[in-house]
Amino acid sequence: MHQLTLAEIARGLADKKFSSEELTKVLLARIAQLDPQLNSFISVTEELALTQAKAADVRRANGESGALLGAPIAHKDLFCTQGIRTSCGSKMLDNFKAPYDATVVAKLAAAGAVTLGKTNMDEFAMGSANESSYYGAVKNPWNLEHVPGGSSGGSAAAVAARLLPAATGTDTGGSIRQPAALTNLTGLKPTYGRVSRWGMIAYASSLDQGGPLARTAEDCAILLQGMAGFDPQDSTSIDEPVPDYSASLNGSLQGLRIGVPKEYFSAGLDPRIAELIHNSVKALEKLGAVVKEISLPNMQHAIPAYYVIAPAEASSNLSRFDGVRFGYRCENPKDLTDLYKRSRGEGFGPEVQRRIMVGAYALSAGYYDAYYLKAQKIRRLIKNDFMAAFNEVDIILGPTTPNPAWKLGAKNSDPVAAYLEDVYTITANLAGLPGLSMPAGFVEGLPVGVQLLAPYFQEGRLLNVAHQYQLNTDWHTRTPTGF
Ligand code: GLN
Repeated sequence: MHQLTLAEIARGLADKKFSSEELTKVLLARIAQLDPQLNSFISVTEELALTQAKAADVRRANGESGALLGAPIAHKDLFCTQGIRTSCGSKMLDNFKAPYDATVVAKLAAAGAVTLGKTNMDEFAMGSANESSYYGAVKNPWNLEHVPGGSSGGSAAAVAARLLPAATGTDTGGSIRQPAALTNLTGLKPTYGRVSRWGMIAYASSLDQGGPLARTAEDCAILLQGMAGFDPQDSTSIDEPVPDYSASLNGSLQGLRIGVPKEYFSAGLDPRIAELIHNSVKALEKLGAVVKEISLPNMQHAIPAYYVIAPAEASSNLSRFDGVRFGYRCENPKDLTDLYKRSRGEGFGPEVQRRIMVGAYALSAGYYDAYYLKAQKIRRLIKNDFMAAFNEVDIILGPTTPNPAWKLGAKNSDPVAAYLEDVYTITANLAGLPGLSMPAGFVEGLPVGVQLLAPYFQEGRLLNVAHQYQLNTDWHTRTPTGF
């Protein structure tokens, strides 16, 4: 039963082949048995899951239907869940029980989804390896000595290991797409403003966006349907109608114009990944797509711009965690300054402290113009590059990451080496565009992802291309040994 996708679960529940309660029990047992190897959950919410599963079964018995009614999922542990620990992977929030549900959590619960737990993540979503979590690193089910990617690494590892069919994640600079790529999943970062950020603990507010991680595009469509929509409580939420994503899956790719940026294939990209990306281009050409080389000339400036803007916003967002308003408080403070200093010094891990310092520096008087303002200007140039490209093509295609999953600890002594892994993903966040990563093959037994980017609000187009690709390839069906 644990092999079923969300779409198959919906059919099985509708046909009364099994109940949500039965399925939930199977998956909870699987989590108890296998998660100790992976560390993908911070909290398993067994009681809540069984209550929600029974309630979903009653709703179905009363004639209700819906693709998410009774479907087991999990939430990245930065979505606030009422009465349940919401830790953000940090000692700072180790004992924080959110007083309310995030909009995404509430919407999915209303649709009948069953929450199995809260998944592990990089502390405050800062990272690309899921090694900065206070609760320990997450392991990649494809090779337990390797990272699963981050920061939504817990969601990715859990879904890849078939502990559950799908989970939520968030993507500030790649944290849905990158772990999806490194664990052989499909992951979608929606257009900025498509999914409500209310109740999602902020890292960098102008970049953060929630989205689905699942094995197939078909399942991402189902989960995104439950997450997306206007939310008056989020001032950056956009009041645009939500299309039927599942209905968008079946369009023909005949004549689809795919742009492949020449800058994507420079030094730094593992040539074995380049070859797999070319293979996926060929597969799409066979389906009728037309491929064209394009250019994103400002791409080289994306990492420096992102690593000014994201820490700047983080330094502001994280100022509320001071031991008074929110978060961990140190023992026996001497005075107020000591309380602030030690609460933050003891509550935040090294990567979070590094980002706060970089961000506060970039925003400080005398440096603002040189760093922050300049980074914002680069951000506009990057957006303009995309707008020009989308005048010529319908989709942009390339690698999701320059390398497959690295070994645990391999980049610990050099944070910049990890930042460079974000080169293909962060531009979509800087521009606010939707992006999807899907399985494209393996290098030495480790999964590789291909990334698709589309114009604003064209999530349906991304899902359509990915679904058609998945009907004609089988990478996404491969299961890691031992799971
Ligand atoms: N790796 C990037 C960072 O550390 C992106 C993280 C994310 O998307 N949350 O900032």
